[in-house]
Amino acid sequence: MDDQIKICGMCGRTEEAAGKLIRLPMNVYLCQDCMDKTADMVESQMGNMNGAGAIDWGKVMGMYGPNSGNTTEKKEEDKESKELKEDSTKEEKKDNQDLKNGPKVNFIKLTDFPFDFGFGNRQKVKKRDKSEYKPLIELKDIPAPHVIKSKLDEYVVGQEQAKRVMSVAVYNHYKRVATHTMDEIEIEKSNMLMLGPTGCGKTYLVRTLARILDVPLAVTDATTLTEAGYIGDDIESVLSKLLAAADNDLDRAEQGIVYIDEIDKIAKKQNTNSRDVSGESVQQGLLKLLEGADIEVPVGASSKNAMVPTTSMNTRNILFICGGAFPGIEEIIKRRLNKTSGIGFHAEVKNPDEKDLTILKEVETEDIRKFGMIPEFVGRLPMVFALEGLDRDMMIRILKEPKNAILKQYQKLLELDEVKLVFTDDALEYIAEKALKKETGARALRSILDEHMIDIMYEVPKDHNIGTVTITRDYLEGKGAPLIELRG
Ligand code: ADP
Repeated sequence: MDDQIKICGMCGRTEEAAGKLIRLPMNVYLCQDCMDKTADMVESQMGNMNGAGAIDWGKVMGMYGPNSGNTTEKKEEDKESKELKEDSTKEEKKDNQDLKNGPKVNFIKLTDFPFDFGFGNRQKVKKRDKSEYKPLIELKDIPAPHVIKSKLDEYVVGQEQAKRVMSVAVYNHYKRVATHTMDEIEIEKSNMLMLGPTGCGKTYLVRTLARILDVPLAVTDATTLTEAGYIGDDIESVLSKLLAAADNDLDRAEQGIVYIDEIDKIAKKQNTNSRDVSGESVQQGLLKLLEGADIEVPVGASSKNAMVPTTSMNTRNILFICGGAFPGIEEIIKRRLNKTSGIGFHAEVKNPDEKDLTILKEVETEDIRKFGMIPEFVGRLPMVFALEGLDRDMMIRILKEPKNAILKQYQKLLELDEVKLVFTDDALEYIAEKALKKETGARALRSILDEHMIDIMYEVPKDHNIGTVTITRDYLEGKGAPLIELRG
C-alpha cells in the first residue's frame, strides 16, 4: 500500500483537498487547478510575445533566476555591447542572428533558480490513520514525577524547583496524551515558561527531558521567527523542525516537545510606529500553536511558498516549553513586591548576588505581561518558573558531577591511554571563576577547559611512562607545569 501523502508541488494541497493529482516526472504532483493556472499564464505570455518572440518563462513563473539574462531586453543590451567589441566570438554572432530571425523559446532549468522548489529534496511524510490513535507513551509506561526528576538529577546540577515543576508538568501532559479523552473533564495543556539567565541549563533541561521520555524534540529560537511573508522563518517552521526531528513521522511529531528559546526577544516593542513583525505579531501567531489546532506546516523548509509541500499537523498534544532570560524583569517584580507588601524588598536583601536569584523566583504572570508578553500568550503557558543563575559552587559541580561531566569525558579519554587524570580543588575553582567572568553561564566551562587540555592531550601520549597527571591552579594560571607521576 502506498503510505505516502501526495501533495501538489505548487499549492501544497493534498489529494484529499485538491482532487486527483497528476504525476509529473521526478515524482512531482500537480493538481488540476495549478495545471490550469499555469496553462493560462503561458497562454497570456504567448499572446504578449515580446520582440524576439521568446516566451518570458521567468515572468510566467513569477520570478527570475540567475540565467534570466536570456530575455530579449538583456539580449538587446548584449547586442549593443557586442557591436562595440571587435573581437566578438562566433557564439555571440549566432545569438545576434537568432534575435533577428525571431521566435525562440528558451527552456529553463529549475535547478538554475536560486529558490528551493522542494523538487530535489522532496520530503515524504508518513501517513497516519486517524482511527488508530496510538500514544507515544502508554499510560502505564509514563515515568512518575519522582522518577523523571531522579533521571534529570543525573545530568542537571541544581535547579531543584525547575526539575520538580517540569517532572510534574510532563507527567501530567503525557497522561493527557495517553488518555486522549475529550470528555467533560479535559485535562489542560501544561505548556511551560522558564525564566533564567543564559547558560543556566534551560535548553539542557529540555533536551534531557526529551531524551528520558524518548520523544522528538525541536529546539528553535524565537528571534528567527517573523510574521508570514516577512524575511525570517514562518511561525509554522517550529513544527517543520519537530516533524524533521520525528523523521517525518506525523504521529510521533504530534506528541513531541517544542522548545522556543529567547522568547523574551519577541516581547512587544515599546513606542514603535512600525509594524512589529517579529515581536507582538509572532506572539499572536504562536497562540494557535500553543493551544492546539490543525496547522498547515511546510515540509522540509522554513517558510511556506507555492512550491513547498505542506502537511496538516495537529498541535493539541505537542508540549510547548518557552524559555528566556527576561533581562530587567527583576525590577518589575521588585516594584510589584514593594507595592503589595508595603515593605521595601531591598531591606530583606543583604548579598547583592543573592538578590536577583531570590527575586526571579517570585515571578508571576503579571510581571511577564508587564515585560511585554501579550496576556493571551502568557495565558497559554500555565506553568511559569525560574531557574537559578549559576554560582561558583554550582559551576564546580557541573564540571565534575553530571553523568557526562566534562571532567569525566577527559578522564575517560586519558584512561584509554592508561593515564589517570586528576584536578586539584583549586584548579576547579580557577576554571569556575574564569567561567563566571565570561557571563555566559556553564557554556564557558567547556571552552576554558578545552583550551588548557590541548597541551596535555598532545604531550601525554608521547611518554608511555606517565601514570598520573594532576592539573593544578598554578598550571592553569601559567605559573608551572602539571604534576606528573610515572607508572610504579
Ligand atoms: P541556556 O539556559 O542558555 O539554555 P544551556 O542549557 O544551553 O543554557 O546550557 C549550556 C550548557 O551548559 C549545557 O549544554 C550544559 O552542558 C551546561 N549546563 C548549564 N547548566 C547546567 C546545569 N544546571 N547542570 C549541568 N550542566 C549545565
